[in-house]
Amino acid sequence: MQAVAEVITPTSLSEDMRTYLGRFDLAACVSCGSCASGCPSSGAPGFEDWNTRKVLRMLAMGMVDEVVNSDFVWLCTGCGRCSQNCPMGVDIAPLMMHMKHLRDRDKVPGSLHKGAQNNLESGNNLAISRDDYLEGMLDLGNELAEEECPGFYVPVDKQDAEVLFFPNSKEVYGDFEDQFWWWKIFYAARENWTVPSEGWEAVDWALFSGNYEGTRKLARRKIDFMKRLNIKQMIMPDCGGGSYGCRTGLKYCLEENSENEVDFIYLYEYLMRIMKEGRITLDKSVHAGKSFTWHDSCKHGRELYRHYGVAFFDEPRWILEQCVDDFVEMTPNRMNSYCCGAGGGMWPMPFDDQSAHHGRYKAEQIQRSGADVVVVACSNCRDQIMKRLPNYYPDYKYEVKYLWQVIAEALVIDPLQGEELRRAEDEAREQWKRLEVELTSEY
Ligand code: SF4
Ligand code: SF4
Ligand code: SF4
Repeated sequence: MQAVAEVITPTSLSEDMRTYLGRFDLAACVSCGSCASGCPSSGAPGFEDWNTRKVLRMLAMGMVDEVVNSDFVWLCTGCGRCSQNCPMGVDIAPLMMHMKHLRDRDKVPGSLHKGAQNNLESGNNLAISRDDYLEGMLDLGNELAEEECPGFYVPVDKQDAEVLFFPNSKEVYGDFEDQFWWWKIFYAARENWTVPSEGWEAVDWALFSGNYEGTRKLARRKIDFMKRLNIKQMIMPDCGGGSYGCRTGLKYCLEENSENEVDFIYLYEYLMRIMKEGRITLDKSVHAGKSFTWHDSCKHGRELYRHYGVAFFDEPRWILEQCVDDFVEMTPNRMNSYCCGAGGGMWPMPFDDQSAHHGRYKAEQIQRSGADVVVVACSNCRDQIMKRLPNYYPDYKYEVKYLWQVIAEALVIDPLQGEELRRAEDEAREQWKRLEVELTSEY
């Protein structure tokens, strides 16, 4: 029997949609398929009929609703390999994001929209109350002070602090002690740092769900907080998506008003700064006998470079050189690195098989490197590489560590004593009183 070709009639689009698509030269697309062959989501289970080239052709034909209603766009991690590979310069990754933006909010898959709403309404993705958050900060701070860092406390809403730091709700809610690594670094460096008492979330699920207005509001909140407390510099959130969303939100706010400018620094730059200034001392011997490799996160590398002209490739490698003796590269890396498969909110979305399919190249790369430890600097990458990929690709065993964990484990800590210790304890007492948090016996 002869196959009958489906006849597609180009759909007429709204003015808004035409204006939006007009920003991309879809007519330049030569249907070469480089985007699809470079996209790790191609061939994902359950989506065998979909690929990036098809999406581009559908959009060129005006089939926006069909694309928006497909879950294929939600498999896009925003890794940017397609855009990098397109010979005609079509920037496909933001187009995929815009298709997410156009989805009715009650049809956003999984918990992404709920998390973004929580963040906008309560100040964090998991709607952790202010009281629970502050009590956690007090108790955990005391635990670290007793264990290793006498006089340590978490400075909250500190006026005139040098740097602002954003906790990640996964750690505030459950992986409590994962916060100790950054805290120890701040302690060892004698940093004048702070966290907000409200609106502290590091992860931006508004970005992941294409909620541009949400991303703008989250950045606005950070700007207001810094100005109110006269904080000099913000360390961009560690989450690759969180920092990318923050950067994008700051750009939106700056476009509205030049007075919205605030100073920020990426975690790599901050860590290099305190190392180069000799503010922390490291003992590499704690990492002896293991080989380490580095995962280039797309949002701290390729995507940041493509949209903001900076990429953190050399910095993490330099930092690792100060901490470990045995480093091996994964290939390909840097601009050509593969995404782990968790970006764009894929970690909390209901697409485990597809996300693991996306991450298959990363699993292969790790195995080929022969490393014992994979070092990451994005909380989504970490969850994916540590928890999801080993479930699907169990043959090769490895550990996963944050870059700041590798540093914290090698720290030689000089504890506060005498007057310095008494001053820190007085400051802590004053702070918790001001925040109306009931003190435990340590104070
Ligand atoms: S950004 Fe990455 S995941 Fe998304 S379509 Fe492009 S290559 Fe695929
Ligand atoms: S890589 Fe570019 S030119 Fe080739 S099919 Fe994709 S969008 Fe079209
Ligand atoms: S999860 Fe990590 S590797 Fe994947 S897109 Fe995000 S930053 Fe890139």
